[in-house]
Order: sequence, then structure tokens, then C-alpha cells
Amino acid sequence: MRISEEILKHQRFVVTTHVEPDGDAVGSALAVFHALQSLGKDVVVCLADSVPPLYRFLPGSYEIQRKVPLEFLPECVMVLDCSELRRAGDIINQVDLRSVVLMNIDHHNSNTHFGDLNLVEESAATGELIYNIIKDLGISISQEMGICIYTAILTDTGGFRYRNTTRQSLQIAAEIVGLGVNPGEIAEKACESYPVERFQILGKALQNLRVGCGGKVADFFVSRSMFNGNGISPSIVEGFVNYPREINGVLVSVFFREKGDNEYRVSLRSKGDADVSAVAQLFGGGGHRNAAGCLVEGNFEAVREQVLRRICEVIQGT
Ligand code: AMP
Ligand code: MN
Ligand code: MN
Repeated sequence: MRISEEILKHQRFVVTTHVEPDGDAVGSALAVFHALQSLGKDVVVCLADSVPPLYRFLPGSYEIQRKVPLEFLPECVMVLDCSELRRAGDIINQVDLRSVVLMNIDHHNSNTHFGDLNLVEESAATGELIYNIIKDLGISISQEMGICIYTAILTDTGGFRYRNTTRQSLQIAAEIVGLGVNPGEIAEKACESYPVERFQILGKALQNLRVGCGGKVADFFVSRSMFNGNGISPSIVEGFVNYPREINGVLVSVFFREKGDNEYRVSLRSKGDADVSAVAQLFGGGGHRNAAGCLVEGNFEAVREQVLRRICEVIQGT
């Protein structure tokens, strides 16, 4: 594999991933961190946003930096789980991209191949690609790497439930369980350790759940006021979009989060063939067929109307 040959040639690495990191982002970055450390490399994991509390159980999470240390001059920058370079946020501006080998490792089919080396493959999670690289490097998977990779796959497959789940996803997970990693324990930490405020906000948000497009689209939103301004991280609502997907007959669920003045973070999930990444791309975002997102500006009802209209068009075309 080109990527592993190149890794072996260098000593200093910056590893980064996308803003508002999810379990695949943090898990993949930390798996690479442990793998490169086992080879004696100098590696710094830098993320533009802080690690959501839910993923702080991942080994190494407290070593993640918010900025590239000034004295650290990397030879390689590894960008994980990002369909475009700008998804990595400000980290990219902190390195001289002309003097590094830029490695793009991702599983979004909308990926722009922005790297000097690109490993872009269809798979349930970037964590699966990281597993393949680690194997190719001849490294045996440690418990720490296993926990990180398992969490990456667990979260991006919705607990091995979504249609992106493959034999490979389950085989990698099974191998990691064979190392002594306990699936129930990880699920409790990654999926069942939310603060009670999440459910208080969910209760308020579900009051505005609406079902339209002949019962096939369900949407709801959270406004900033629902957070009560008490410093709760927006990551507390991660995954809200999945709840309406559980309604019988609903093919697409949409979740709007008020991010700034007239600025909404839109999360989209679908069942079956309905391609929500096509809708997200119309609004400058991206993602996968069944899970995508974008940022839309405008007044809430106008934003909602535009997004839902596009979704209904997509559904009627399938
Ligand atoms: P989310 O709804 O935030 O969980 O995102 C779902 C999927 O869409 C993930 O695979 C993201 O990588 C992708 N995604 C979300 N927001 C954006 C964006 N603004 N641009 C590109 N891809 C995005
Ligand atoms: Mn991600
Ligand atoms: Mn991912």
C-alpha cells in the first residue's frame, strides 16, 4: 500500500480530522496515534474542536491538541474522515502544506482527492481503512488501537444497524473482541453515557416534530434557547437526527440545529435508496447516501422549507 510505504519513510506526523468530530473521527485519529507511536514515530493529534465528552474514554484522548505546537515541524499530515480539506478547519492553516506529504484517508464518495496521497474507499467507517493500514504496516492491533477502531465502526454504523454495515465491519469488530475488548462496555461508554440535559433538550425538541411528504419525511429542530445558555456543548445533541428515522414509513429524517444568527446545521438520515448526500451537496455540504449534513443560512422557516422541498423531490424520484 502506497500510504504505508510513505508512513515508514517519515518520522514526524500531524494527524487531524473534521470539525465537530464524531466517534469515527476521534476513534480513527487515536488509532493512528497509537499505531504510529508503536513504530517509534513522533505524532501529534490536532483537532480544531474539542473532543466531545462522550469520546473522552478513548485511550489517548487527553493527548489531543487544539493547535499544532509551534516547534513541531511535521513531514506528513494525515487528514482522516474529511471529504474536503476545509472540513479539518483551522488546523490546516497551521502547517506549511508545501513542505509536507498530505495524506487523505476517507470513506466519503464525495471526497475531492485533495491529498498528495489519497486512500478513499467505500467502507462503513474511516476506522476500517485505518485497520487495513495498520495491518499493512505489520503492526499487531493493541487493545488501545482496538478500542478506538471498534468505536469508530460502532458509531458510524449506528451500532451495526445501518445499511453501510458489511461483512468487513463485523469481521474487524469480531477480531477486536477477540483481543478482549468488551462490546457492551464500549457501547455503554459511547452510546449510553449522555448527561441528563440531552434528554431534557430532546423532550423540548420533539414537541416540534413534524411529519410530511406523505408520511415519508420527519423533521424537528433545536434552537439555541433550548440549551438555556448554560455552557452545554452542542455535541450533546449529536445523533438526535436518528430518532425520527425510527418512525414506521419515514424514509428521511432531518434535524436542524440553530448554530448562529440565521445559521442552521442540518443533519440528514435516510433508509434505503433515498440519497440524502445529493441534497446536502445542493447546499454546499456532503456525506453518504444514508447520512449527510450541511450548513444553511437564512430564516428558519425558509431554510426548512427549501431543504424539505429538495428531500421530497429526491424521494419522489426513487
Ligand atoms: P452529521 O449529520 O453531522 O452526523 O453528518 C453526517 C455525515 O455528513 C457525516 O458523514 C459527515 O461527514 C457529513 N457532513 C456533515 N456536515 C457536512 C458538511 N458541512 N460538509 C460535508 N460533509 C458533511
Ligand atoms: Mn465523521
Ligand atoms: Mn466517518
